[in-house]
Amino acid sequence: MMGDGGTVVHQLDAWRLRAEPFYQPAGQEVEAFLAAHAARLPLLLKGPTGCGKTRFVEHMAWRLGLPLITIACHEDLSAGDLAGRWLLDAEGTHWQDGPLAQAARYGGICYLDELVEARSDATVLLHPLADTRRVLPLEKRGELLHAHPDFQLVVSYNPGYQGLHKGLKPSMRQRFTALAFDYPEAGIEAAIVAREGGVELDMAARLVALGQRTRRLQEHGLEEGASTRMLVHAAVLLREGLAPRAACLQAIATPLSDDADIGVALRGVVHASF
Ligand code: ADP
Repeated sequence: MMGDGGTVVHQLDAWRLRAEPFYQPAGQEVEAFLAAHAARLPLLLKGPTGCGKTRFVEHMAWRLGLPLITIACHEDLSAGDLAGRWLLDAEGTHWQDGPLAQAARYGGICYLDELVEARSDATVLLHPLADTRRVLPLEKRGELLHAHPDFQLVVSYNPGYQGLHKGLKPSMRQRFTALAFDYPEAGIEAAIVAREGGVELDMAARLVALGQRTRRLQEHGLEEGASTRMLVHAAVLLREGLAPRAACLQAIATPLSDDADIGVALRGVVHASF
């Protein structure tokens, strides 16, 4: 498409989803996302790892026909990584928008995964974008970028693993609307595991029951129980021909913890389940 931003529509096209990502809703989250999007309100998704937050955003981006730019936040992620920087090459210096600036400039969903991991200069950059101003100051370039009407900010974090100093500041929280995610109820989770892992529903239900037992170990020192993602991994290994115990040890019990006692408990759960 030519005209307004022609070349770059092209550039963001690489971020468009080609096929519908399967997403099984557990409640009213689709309607909630649509409402937030219609009002261009930023959205915060909170919940444990591997419970479907990313898949949900992918599904919604596909549904809304918008490009999705995903940024995995980490402790070195700085404002420059998000906003952009001057680059030097044979022809001189030129400005390169960072992923956040690209989404804001050309319109799309920008999804910052595990936002609490990012450096504070990176999170502060989101403030004017996340409120009614909808601007991104590109200080190094001397530009105040006004967000495209299709721009939407979505962030996620896992309240379970915040270290002592990590957490979202009230100044951030108060700019967002939020949805709480958790592992879905057993019947829905089994349907997801069956479909994603390619196993029969009764086998998926047994994996979910095992997953629920590991989640109860959280009271006994396990940081986090098996996620839906892990149950899908176990299903995939089963589909590839591994025996159930071997699949569950490899996909769930072994990766979940390095602690000797918890390891014994997890292997016990696997052996009791299959
Ligand atoms: P998160 O972003 O919360 O860490 P993901 O969205 O990456 O987790 O989910 C991990 C995997 O679990 C997905 O790749 C998908 O296979 C499966 N999954 C979890 N919840 C759902 C759901 N509601 N619908 C479809 N797949 C799901």
